[in-house]
Amino acid sequence: MADNRLYEVLGVNRNASDAELKKAYRKLAKEFHPDKNPTAGEKFKEISFAYETLSNPEKREVYDRHGLDGLKEGAGGGGFGNGSMFEDLFGGFFGFPGMSGMGGGRGRRRGEDTLHPLRVSLEDLYNGKTSKLQLSKTVVCKKCNGMGGKSGASQRCKKCNGRGVQVQLRQIGPGMVQQLQSICSDCHGEGEVLREKDRCPDCKGKKVCNETKILEVHVDKGMRDGQKIPFRGEGDQQPGVEAGDVIIVLQQKEHEVFTRKDTDLVMEYNISLTEALCGFQFVIKHLDGRDLVIHSQPGEVISPGKLKMVAEEGMPRYRNPFEKGNLYINFNITFPEKNFASDEQLKMLEAVLPPRPHIEIPTGEDVEEVNLVEFDASRGGIGRGAGARSEAYDEDDEDAHGGHPRMQCQHQ
Ligand SMILES: [Zn+2]
Ligand SMILES: [Zn+2]
Repeated sequence: MADNRLYEVLGVNRNASDAELKKAYRKLAKEFHPDKNPTAGEKFKEISFAYETLSNPEKREVYDRHGLDGLKEGAGGGGFGNGSMFEDLFGGFFGFPGMSGMGGGRGRRRGEDTLHPLRVSLEDLYNGKTSKLQLSKTVVCKKCNGMGGKSGASQRCKKCNGRGVQVQLRQIGPGMVQQLQSICSDCHGEGEVLREKDRCPDCKGKKVCNETKILEVHVDKGMRDGQKIPFRGEGDQQPGVEAGDVIIVLQQKEHEVFTRKDTDLVMEYNISLTEALCGFQFVIKHLDGRDLVIHSQPGEVISPGKLKMVAEEGMPRYRNPFEKGNLYINFNITFPEKNFASDEQLKMLEAVLPPRPHIEIPTGEDVEEVNLVEFDASRGGIGRGAGARSEAYDEDDEDAHGGHPRMQCQHQ
């Protein structure tokens, strides 16, 4: 039994003329255009697909003879104009599951997704936020419904005979001919051209117009750097093509105090030696504006590099914001400068602190008392002593002659 679905979609019979097809398409496209009828997106795609197929004489012939399966085979074999574009459709509303795995590259029935970065602070990710994002996009021209001009004004492209592609044969060897296929330069693959006077005044025959659109981006509590927020179908529109998505990609600005590790927050905090030994309290301004008062336990001593935790004061969990990670505080201790106390005071201090370890000093010829001096890191790091320094000098010398000292060393 003959496949009639594409004709049924347009509400015409099988022997409808090109003009009847176009008339039916224009009427339906107007009615189901996503701008007027946002819920009818699928219907609009079906209409567009049916018209695109039936208005192309070659495709219509294949369809009349073999139905959608015929088009599908054409798509897979690559022998058919823009074959791969059918995959998405067949995998979609015409009910051929599993077609998308076929070769032939990406279907062109769906527009590209557009990525937009959105800079957010750690506070935004903690508290949640709604951002308004202005973006400009192309929309199908409302005046001409994406036709580019008056009804019937477009004519079949003479250069490609409406196929949208040009085929060139090139001899590449004796008896060998290569077939080159390219998008028609006159109609840019559309298969039809518009005379200048027939062009739609709004879109100048381009079928699309530019529009500014405000998107409300809801940054939810607990979202993270790099997370994507998609807006389905908000990408650039093209007639007969499903618009791609606009995808907002969150980019977290660095925070002065906190570093995020999954749902946990980590921070460094400097305390003085006095605080480390005798106790401390301090205040942290949290991401929601609360002041967290943090204090040591009585008798507690904090050693350098000590990591302590405040439970459930980390980031809220995405989609479960009442559950939170932990806050980790890594303590640095600032020691007093030299000569901070008199000899007498030091004696008092020593009386309080734990006793020194007792060290037996040996005597004899093998015992040598040496000087401990300040280490100046700017004059070379550890492992770059006197010997290393003369080596560095040699390297500099060879560099002056434009050589590659390391490579030359290997040859020696
Ligand atoms: Zn052409
Ligand atoms: Zn227009």
